[in-house]
Amino acid sequence: MTRPLGFDEAVESPSAPAAAARVRLRPRKALPFYGRHPWVLESAIARVEPAPDADRRGSPDPDESLDGAVVDLVNDKGQFIARGFYNGKSRIRVRLLTWDESEAIDESLFRRRIAQAILLREQIGYEVVSERAMSASRLLFSESDGLSGLIVDRYGEYLVLQPTSLAMAQRLEMIQAILFDLLRPRGIVLRTEKSMANLEGASLVEGHYWGQLPDAPIDIVESGVRLQIDLSGGQKTGFYLDQRENRRAAAAYLRGRRVLDMFCYTGGFSLAAAKLGGAKETLGIDGSKRAIAQARINAELNGLPQCQFDVADGFKTLDALAEQGEKFDSVVLDPPKFARNRSGISQALMAYHRINRAAVECLAPGGILVTCSCSGSVPREDFLLMLSGVAQKSKRDMQILECRGAAPDHPVSATCLETEYLKCVIARVA
Ligand code: SAH
Repeated sequence: MTRPLGFDEAVESPSAPAAAARVRLRPRKALPFYGRHPWVLESAIARVEPAPDADRRGSPDPDESLDGAVVDLVNDKGQFIARGFYNGKSRIRVRLLTWDESEAIDESLFRRRIAQAILLREQIGYEVVSERAMSASRLLFSESDGLSGLIVDRYGEYLVLQPTSLAMAQRLEMIQAILFDLLRPRGIVLRTEKSMANLEGASLVEGHYWGQLPDAPIDIVESGVRLQIDLSGGQKTGFYLDQRENRRAAAAYLRGRRVLDMFCYTGGFSLAAAKLGGAKETLGIDGSKRAIAQARINAELNGLPQCQFDVADGFKTLDALAEQGEKFDSVVLDPPKFARNRSGISQALMAYHRINRAAVECLAPGGILVTCSCSGSVPREDFLLMLSGVAQKSKRDMQILECRGAAPDHPVSATCLETEYLKCVIARVA
């Protein structure tokens, strides 16, 4: 249980689980953490106090060995607020995992949280058993599932494990053992991203796996569409699972239409548009040769010759198509992340404006725009205001039909709204 504000001077309870250190907050910095926000930034911290029994003498940097260790977060008076993982190298100094002083951060906590995450996917009707399963879903989504810094995706009978924090990267053996125990997958593939390695001071590991490794891209089926996924060589964990329901929702508007699918990766929106929605023709563009080669194979697997794909720069192609006066009945825009943090918001919004303006230029009257943003730091409202600006500048009425987010296997934590990152707006442009 969370200690109420104003709790008297902390008393070390004899059974309190051990933490390597206490992280003391500056005065008046505790509110967000009583509010269960899981990220403690450097600016909120007064000092780190190693536990009296932790012997760090002789260490050149007394804090170094704390990276990845369990610490208690205390207010400026020393009262317990929460417990989590410390990382002196990261902007996020502490990632909080529990607000219950009697709860230890150990194997049992991981097991409970992972089991809970799997149960949620079952509740929302997503397949979780790995035997003979052909579908794919996110089984565990970091803060949203109470394990900040950990992502687990399931592709058929395989799992992909992606640590996004140093502490999780240090505990992979324990995590994989729990996953094997609970789900019995054929194999678990480890994916680490360079950006996280840089941000967290963790090492980049390539080609690591446990159990069996699929010797070829594996086949999955999403809403009836067959897709080949390259677990070790694809982007992210192999596929953009967060767009699952959006691909299906968009397809419903595209019957008989000619669709431009910008930033198409392996063809998700195009294939759904043609197979589920009955789109007449689709043209997918992506800058990655590898993704386009896979998109073409996917089109063939589904017997969809009306889906065409090309390798090209998305920004230049959009400008060129707009300039040539080329018209489509629908444009899907699903660009990569434009803003890494808050300071990048206004530049990102300008970039969104630019590509959405060009997309609207390419839309025939009454066309459908499916426009997405996966930049978490760009607020949904700002994204809508950007669209409003596009409608004004292009002098085209725009009717928003659906304002969507990520699929429900990427839940949003109400106390960590940074987990609400994906925006997908479906609009009709007059
Ligand atoms: N719509 C896709 C996901 C797109 S993710 C799906 O449903 O699966 C963003 C894509 O943008 C990636 O495939 C990436 O290769 C591509 N990309 C990034 N920069 C690009 C650029 N300058 N031009 C074209 N594509 C780009």
